[in-house]
Amino acid sequence: MFTELKREAYEANLEIPKQGLAIYTFGNVSAFDAARGVFAIKPSGVPYDELTPDLMVVVDLDGDIVEGSGRPSSDTKTHAVLYREFAGIRGVCHSHSMYAVAWAQACREIPVFGTTHADHLTEPIPVTEPMSDDAIERDYEVETGHQIVQRLRGLDPHEVEMIIVACHGPFTWGTSAQKAVYNSRVLEEIAQMAYLTRTINPIAPPIKETLIRKHYLRKHGAGAYYGQVETPDVIDGLK
Ligand SMILES: [Zn+2]
Repeated sequence: MFTELKREAYEANLEIPKQGLAIYTFGNVSAFDAARGVFAIKPSGVPYDELTPDLMVVVDLDGDIVEGSGRPSSDTKTHAVLYREFAGIRGVCHSHSMYAVAWAQACREIPVFGTTHADHLTEPIPVTEPMSDDAIERDYEVETGHQIVQRLRGLDPHEVEMIIVACHGPFTWGTSAQKAVYNSRVLEEIAQMAYLTRTINPIAPPIKETLIRKHYLRKHGAGAYYGQVETPDVIDGLK
């Protein structure tokens, strides 16, 4: 019944180990069908090389299973909050990629140190507040979603498609499941570059606002002139 949606989620999940974003069963991607109000997500605890499209679990926006025999990813309720709150997104990705997690564990946002970052967003990559004891006890995965939404307040989720959850790791999203994984890979690259920058020069400043704007607008909006007229495949688009 949800053949296409499950295939999209399956193929996006395979990108996680392929892009070096996770070991063993770490990480998960989902693909959202807005018209039907459901998303397909990785089953919990299943290694990537054992995944098949049929193993994907389809759930509604309350996280209840609509189709599938397995248990969905333990992060399912976080994905559901993001689909409910960020209108227009169609994919969510979560991983424990090393450098993004390092910034998460340090509870630090990633400053815009260079044009690689500015090509993708004009803001520092935001970090959430550490979660309160109450929230951890209440409904941990839902609260993780709420923390992301709260931190994004005042920002456009179609411009800032990535966040670092303090003490935990990255969540990214986008207009497709593949785009969400692409954003996770970009975030990991930016996180590693930023770490190296700070290692070489602990007081390295962010780049100038004019350079940030210039690079962002080369790739986004009406005046964009980067790439070819036809949109390249997002994974190939990582330059
Ligand atoms: Zn996690």
